[in-house]
Amino acid sequence: AKMVGRNNFQFFDQKMNDAAVDRLKIEHSLRQALANGEFRLHYQPVIDMPTGKVCGVEALVRWQHPEKGLLAPGRFIGIAEETGLIQPLGEWVLWAACRQLAEFKAAGLSGVRMAINISAIQMRNGNLPLLVRGIIEAYGLRAEELMFEITETVAMEQPTETVRILDLLHDMGISIAIDDFGTGYSSLSYLHMFPISHLKLDRAFVKEIGEDTDEAVICDATIGLAHSLGHKVVAEGVETTAQLEYLRRLGCDMVQGFLFSQPVPAEQVIDFIRSRNA
Ligand code: C2E
Ligand code: CA
Ligand code: CA
Ligand code: CA
Repeated sequence: AKMVGRNNFQFFDQKMNDAAVDRLKIEHSLRQALANGEFRLHYQPVIDMPTGKVCGVEALVRWQHPEKGLLAPGRFIGIAEETGLIQPLGEWVLWAACRQLAEFKAAGLSGVRMAINISAIQMRNGNLPLLVRGIIEAYGLRAEELMFEITETVAMEQPTETVRILDLLHDMGISIAIDDFGTGYSSLSYLHMFPISHLKLDRAFVKEIGEDTDEAVICDATIGLAHSLGHKVVAEGVETTAQLEYLRRLGCDMVQGFLFSQPVPAEQVIDFIRSRNA
């Protein structure tokens, strides 16, 4: 029995070691990918409900892996966060999204706000506001043309420091959205501490629209509550016209989802905006 126990232990140990080696390999290849310029941004249009026009896009990062093809962020953001590589990756995203916004404007598109996902780790970096100011100036943008999306867990982790950084960003003119709203601790009780202007209703709730579920009720209640706090609501993951019409009746302000467009490369989103806003 002793022998078996020992072998089991060694087996387990080996497995843990393999996992650690895998992580190191991924970390190494992420570093390499940053150096080689393998990251791309795709853009998903955000539709203004009353007018049906595109009022913004959300930048979503992808990794164009030389062997594995185009990888979604679910495959690498977590590891980038654990290894600290989210810092340089997040900085790359900021530069790339802002450069693209300047290109949209140069191409004659106006009234399109760029939404950028900001990780918890980036929010802890006190230099973020200064970095953002530098990027905005470099591309001749206005801060009002940007929206930062942070998840509620991010906001909850170090509330005091987060509030300080968010206040600086907000004072510059950047809009702040709470992403994946309804999935975390989301208590509305703390939301008033943050200078937010938008809530993004998570796809999990939108999916249940039309069904007689708690989620559909939460969807309804959230929109009412957000409005009473003076926030706009963006619904994520809208896939059907039934969902769209229901959200319209609830007074939802903006929508995004496959019903309109998947996240696509810049050239395609430009075509989409041109045809929709014509
Ligand atoms: P998210 O910010 O909640 O982004 C929305 C996700 O939902 C995107 O997945 C998008 O492709 C997907 N989506 C949009 N509409 C629909 C729909 O109608 N149906 C369905 N089934 N899905 C839809 P994606 O691009 O794989 O991104 C996943 C997550 O990765 C994002 O969730 C965000 O948390 C994170 N992420 C993406 N880009 C960045 C980035 O630049 N920085 C950071 N820190 N995180 C990022
Ligand atoms: Ca987001
Ligand atoms: Ca989301
Ligand atoms: Ca439920």
